[in-house]
Amino acid sequence: MYVMAAVNVVDIGGLLNGGRRVVEVRQEVVLEPFDGWSFPSAATVQLEIRAVARLVDITGVIDVEAAGQCDRCLREISTAMHVDVREQFEAAATFQDDPFDEGNVLRGERLDVADLSRQLVDSAVPFAVLCDPNCRGLCANCGQDKNQGECACVKLEPME
Ligand SMILES: [Zn+2]
Ligand SMILES: [Zn+2]
Repeated sequence: MYVMAAVNVVDIGGLLNGGRRVVEVRQEVVLEPFDGWSFPSAATVQLEIRAVARLVDITGVIDVEAAGQCDRCLREISTAMHVDVREQFEAAATFQDDPFDEGNVLRGERLDVADLSRQLVDSAVPFAVLCDPNCRGLCANCGQDKNQGECACVKLEPME
């Protein structure tokens, strides 16, 4: 049976009550577009979750392809992202609403893998969508892609 709402939620009750030492998670997580980037295919999320005293310790990797349009030359680009996961959450504090909780990744005994993945990927995407840090962009006058060569109006541009 496929339960949509809970598909990326992992029950870690067995960890918190000492019954299990580690929970391994491998999930495909669909991510919403963020800050100019979109994620055409689901992220592959692999995690190992451990309880260490009152902490929930999460390590693993998230692999996802981020796609976007270069801010300067408008070329479509995509980049393979590999995000290392190393997070700890306080288990006890999560049984009630915690003002320091960032987005309710852990609610009681339920870890929201989608929420965790979204937060980590969103904070790992490059600040600007650029095909190359040195992209020369388009000529504001004629629209020529200056990565392909100078246009005829280059002499009219002010010197810096
Ligand atoms: Zn560009
Ligand atoms: Zn031009």
